[in-house]
Amino acid sequence: MKPSHLALAIVEHQIDVLNPFNGTVVGTVADIGASQVPGLLEQGRNGARACAGLSRHGRARILEQAALNVERDALAFARLIVEEAGKTFKQAEKEVKRCVNTLKLSAQEARRNAGEVLPFDAYEGSESRQGWFSREPLGLIVAITPYNDPLNLVAHKLGPAIAGGNAVILKPSELAPLSALRLVRYLVEAGLPESVVTVATGGAELGKALVEAREVRMISFTGGFVTGERIARTAGLKKLAMDLGGNAPVIVMDDCDLEAAVESCLSGAFWAAGQNCIGTQRLLIQASIYAAFRERFVSQAQVLVTGDPMLASTDIGPMITLQAALNAEQVVTEALAQGAALLCGHRRQGSCYAATVLENVDHASRLWRDEVFAPVVVLQPFETLDEAIALANEPEYSLHAGIFTNDLATAMSAARRIEAGGVMINDSSDYRFDAMPFGGFKYGSLGREGVRFAYEEMTQPKVVCINTLGQVT
Ligand code: NAD
Repeated sequence: MKPSHLALAIVEHQIDVLNPFNGTVVGTVADIGASQVPGLLEQGRNGARACAGLSRHGRARILEQAALNVERDALAFARLIVEEAGKTFKQAEKEVKRCVNTLKLSAQEARRNAGEVLPFDAYEGSESRQGWFSREPLGLIVAITPYNDPLNLVAHKLGPAIAGGNAVILKPSELAPLSALRLVRYLVEAGLPESVVTVATGGAELGKALVEAREVRMISFTGGFVTGERIARTAGLKKLAMDLGGNAPVIVMDDCDLEAAVESCLSGAFWAAGQNCIGTQRLLIQASIYAAFRERFVSQAQVLVTGDPMLASTDIGPMITLQAALNAEQVVTEALAQGAALLCGHRRQGSCYAATVLENVDHASRLWRDEVFAPVVVLQPFETLDEAIALANEPEYSLHAGIFTNDLATAMSAARRIEAGGVMINDSSDYRFDAMPFGGFKYGSLGREGVRFAYEEMTQPKVVCINTLGQVT
């Protein structure tokens, strides 16, 4: 695919984008280095003027038209996601649908979320004043995205930023940048001035130089904790939005619908080969149903088919790279050495790692404490809800959690006490819809995505106050 929206004509180095399953070259993009950041910023400055100059209906119409065009070419987008990120076709089709929705929701924000009238006369002393606040663009935003949802996570940054009248320099993952390039092409075809979104393909060195640029008003980052910490250390005085990792717990109470819980947790644990920030990593199961749950869960997990993501018969595609699969294997090997018991999986063929289930996992192990980001899940029994909640809350960060129960009081108690950005009742942790506020609790999480919430993060209020000097009665 021709990278038509790269800012710079002269490119010295290139990145081959590889199919994670078979290693074939899917596309080639420029490897833009830090030395080219001044040119990118120049384009970003022009873009900020161009986008702020668009009317709200102009921004909304571009986003709506782009949504229609993505929908029209949904199959081609899905194929590209499979080829560069290794999701199965069904999973990729779902991501495309969500991207269409994200763009449409963004158009709605452009049309409706313009500010509020301020009640100046609500307190004594301001009776002669009237006014409002408007939502103004921040200016230039740097958006940095990961590989695992290479289309919709990009839409979650571009949609709200454009709706808010901003320009974006987008640095997609160097492992899967092609869907992002295609989406930006569609936005331009829908009428977006070319300067508004500049796609800067490259790696960490480029990302770091963009983060440091003084004139950038906001870094909107989605990715891992280590990168997030690096960005926070070097960004200086600019707004930071951090959508980082998870290690999601799901509590299974003995009064739940067991079959429904097993089915949902299988999907929660193994969707996108577990490369999913809200993927279920720890299954906490009430002791009275532990054996029954384990038997059903393991028997269904061990027949999941791992392999070619293009085949309809495949449940679990490859991990993004051979190295990612080796890392997953290593974390499991370590947990086994620390006393864990393997219930199924822990088989690797190239970048494919089979659905892996363990129990008796040491709570000091990386597998319990950290994000594994692989098709690996831990089973852990508990006796009481209090114990389950304490276990759920052990890691120092938390995106989503789930609980299966048919008792409303239990569900509500868990919803109140689990420390997470979202608690799903009778769903695994892996439920998200694109209009809800999305983000984590505890360490590292800054701000919220979800279109309305990202839009509000990406705009700034400006107050206009008119002192009528008592002349209006
Ligand atoms: P990553 O942190 O390795 O890379 C993310 C992006 O950061 C890439 O574009 C990369 O090139 C860039 N980058 C790397 N070093 C940088 C630096 N020093 N300065 C600036 N940019 C730099 O993440 P990944 O492996 O691509 O993605 C997986 C991670 O993303 C997981 O931890 C997952 O949980 C997280 N994630 C979070 C969400 C969410 O919404 N919370 C969604 C998806 C993925």
